[in-house]
Amino acid sequence: MPKKSSERGLREVAASGSHHQIGVTIGKQCRDMAIRMEKRFKTAISATPGFNLQKAITYSRKSLPLSRKFAPGFIEELEGYAEGTGIDFGTIYAMTCDFPEGGRGKGCTDIAVNAEWTKDDVVFAAHNEDVAPYSISEITVARIRPKDEPGYIGMNYGGIWPTEGLNAAGISLTGNALVPNDTRQGMPKSIPIRKVLAETGIYQALKASMPEGRGHSFNNIVCDSNGEIYSMEGSATTFDALYAEDGWMVHTNHYLSPKMWKFEDNMHTRFSSIVRYNRANRLFKRELGKVDLSTFKRILSDHVGYPESICRHADPALEVEEQTQSIFSIVCDLTNKVLWVCYGNPCVGEYKKYEV
Ligand SMILES: [Zn+2]
Repeated sequence: MPKKSSERGLREVAASGSHHQIGVTIGKQCRDMAIRMEKRFKTAISATPGFNLQKAITYSRKSLPLSRKFAPGFIEELEGYAEGTGIDFGTIYAMTCDFPEGGRGKGCTDIAVNAEWTKDDVVFAAHNEDVAPYSISEITVARIRPKDEPGYIGMNYGGIWPTEGLNAAGISLTGNALVPNDTRQGMPKSIPIRKVLAETGIYQALKASMPEGRGHSFNNIVCDSNGEIYSMEGSATTFDALYAEDGWMVHTNHYLSPKMWKFEDNMHTRFSSIVRYNRANRLFKRELGKVDLSTFKRILSDHVGYPESICRHADPALEVEEQTQSIFSIVCDLTNKVLWVCYGNPCVGEYKKYEV
């Protein structure tokens, strides 16, 4: 009997030891994914005005010294990954970098809440990952245990690039894409994600989420098991630290802080984000005081504004490159250090438990 995609597809990978060893191990486990991603990267970069592969490698190399200084462990992981996959490191690092005009139509929905509002006194950070539908074949659940840092369990592209995760010190990194108008050549926005997952406290994690010299930024949602919840709304040159004063927050893909409004590239492209933000806020308010895993399943499966709803589905009217789908949904339980993962759209899948 054919298996449902939710049973067939989500790969679990694991590695431990030095950062270099971790990269080699993951590279061997995910070589097929890396090769697919490399192929897509080459196609995308040759369609980017002013770029080809060699120019992209040269361009990205300029930020390498800064990335290496800021997150040496992650760069060693990427070097090991190059070895394990057989792809040259210059290309792997270029695949880590941001290029002008990249990934503008995508977005995600995030909710975080502390113990005062939850049924079992648990701190939660939840997230829908909204990207190109084909990316569903490139995502893994990765258990990474470096010898010198807290281990983490992450939703890692190609096994090595975390996009969301929770570590053994009770720090979670979730978050979503923004489109700032001050992007520049600098440290890629994916480097801080890995760095946050290496940290042991909220101060260190916040600092890791917004390094100086970055060229772009996600909205990095950084939480700890005490229920400290921050939405770090970054652009390339500045940020605002939004604190969940009422003990909970929702974030989608536009700047909420008045301080950051002037960095919004084009508000006219943010209608899905506006609908998802208001809808998630309204639905979540009703749940305060009784929040549990089922709360997130309900809200993250919501279809108001379909197909660009909280649970996003590919719009057949759009070109494949323009389509967006919720390829997975996660709920981090920071109190019990558990990651719940639903592979595919949360309206059809089930959340599976992974302990950190
Ligand atoms: Zn759905």
